[in-house]
Amino acid sequence: MAWDFETDKEYQALLDWAEEFLETKVEPLDMVLGSPMEYQDPDFIRNVRPLQDEVRKKGLWACHLGPELGGLGFGQLKLALLNELLGRSRFAPVVFGCQAPDTGNAEILAHYGSDELKDRYLQPLLNGEMASSYSMTEPQGGSDPTQFKCMAVEDGDEYVINGEKWFSSNARYASFLIAMTVTDPDAPAHERATMFVVPTDTPGVNIVRNVGVGDEAPGEGTHAYVRYEDVRVPRSNMLGPRGKGFAVAQTRLGGGRIHHAMRTIGQCKRAFDMMCQRSLSRNTKGEILADKQMVQEKIADSWIDLESFRMLVLRTAWRIDKYNDYLKVRKDIAAVKAAMPRVYHDIVSRCIQVHGSLGVSNELPLTGMLLGSYVMGIADGPTEVHKVTLARQILREYEGTEDLFPPYTLPNRRAAAIAQFGDMIEREVENW
Ligand SMILES: Cc1cc2nc3c(=O)[nH]c(=O)nc-3n(C[C@H](O)[C@H](O)[C@H](O)COP(=O)(O)OP(=O)(O)OC[C@H]3O[C@@H](n4cnc5c(N)ncnc54)[C@H](O)[C@@H]3O)c2cc1C
Repeated sequence: MAWDFETDKEYQALLDWAEEFLETKVEPLDMVLGSPMEYQDPDFIRNVRPLQDEVRKKGLWACHLGPELGGLGFGQLKLALLNELLGRSRFAPVVFGCQAPDTGNAEILAHYGSDELKDRYLQPLLNGEMASSYSMTEPQGGSDPTQFKCMAVEDGDEYVINGEKWFSSNARYASFLIAMTVTDPDAPAHERATMFVVPTDTPGVNIVRNVGVGDEAPGEGTHAYVRYEDVRVPRSNMLGPRGKGFAVAQTRLGGGRIHHAMRTIGQCKRAFDMMCQRSLSRNTKGEILADKQMVQEKIADSWIDLESFRMLVLRTAWRIDKYNDYLKVRKDIAAVKAAMPRVYHDIVSRCIQVHGSLGVSNELPLTGMLLGSYVMGIADGPTEVHKVTLARQILREYEGTEDLFPPYTLPNRRAAAIAQFGDMIEREVENW
């Protein structure tokens, strides 16, 4: 009997260690340090590096890639259980060496990079020595990659890149970008693009400005508007075959989306915990909030949302491990991606409401989390697109009928049942 909802004892012990380590040593860093991506900052070196060493010693470092891909990982299901803890803290993914977008970029490099690219970029990325950025979305449209215009033109042994990219997260901290370019504009829509590693110090890689989300101060954001101006990269920096950029992107995006979902569970749990604590602490009209049925409904609905989302994420992670082929889990990942913003949004909204004025104040992280729920409905493709993917994948398993009344109408089913069993149950059939 293979269905089992328990974590094995040895791994649970590691998770318990991680939970305490996060609470006591990592979450406090969220309160005192700036960006988790500033690897060269003296405060980072002094405070974060020793914690990374502790994680390495425990064997929990960079668990997103398995040994066959150059990592130390142990599959997506175990990663999910770890990531839902890491999701609670801003610094946790960096301390454990599994932060976006480096995880997805490492996955592309592991699958498609030459040995030289792996030595130069994958290993330092997995070691936490350098940061990376993924440069795909363009200012004129992100949801429809067939509209992309950033071109890479072959010139001898090099490609010359010209164009613009929008929301290339962490480009300001990155040593290299993985850029999606159009190399074959006349090919069918999904065979026009090619992916390249572009070192950020290459002449012509220019950050127009760093865009922030919400009320981040102008220029303080981490999502770069990048202009590529006659950027030359060697042919050997190509990732995957020419014209196969869309397929290469899927390698990255599948993993990236489920990792966001795992961490989102952590954020939802955080909001849920706050809501429960507040309900048991605040009095109004002679009773605690927890005694009011409309508050109880918020808690019950949030628990159901969270637990059912968590099961969907864990099952999807399990299926990724089982099939080791993202194409076979497209439906599951699309479902997770489409469910994530709604679950996150609804739980955080209820938590805000239960906290009243404190909930909307700048003394709780809840308004930022609410914005985070919208980000989850946009980054890595908007919810609408994932719902379309999900519906299409589901509908592949069905067939329509040309009959005027479909076979599942009760008269048709009854007729079929009589044909099958009529002789044996004469009396009931007569009564119909
Ligand atoms: C915080 C954050 C980080 C990001 N990081 C990166 C990154 O590192 N690298 C990178 O390349 N990109 C990144 N992105 C960009 C992200 O991938 C795009 O924002 C996303 O693909 C949507 O593209 P768009 O913003 O151009 O929206 P548009 O394509 O303009 O779409 C706008 C809206 O139109 C609707 N819509 C679009 N298509 C459909 C459809 N088929 N059916 C129905 N409605 C539809 C949706 O409501 C959608 O939200 C990031 C975005 C965010 C918010």
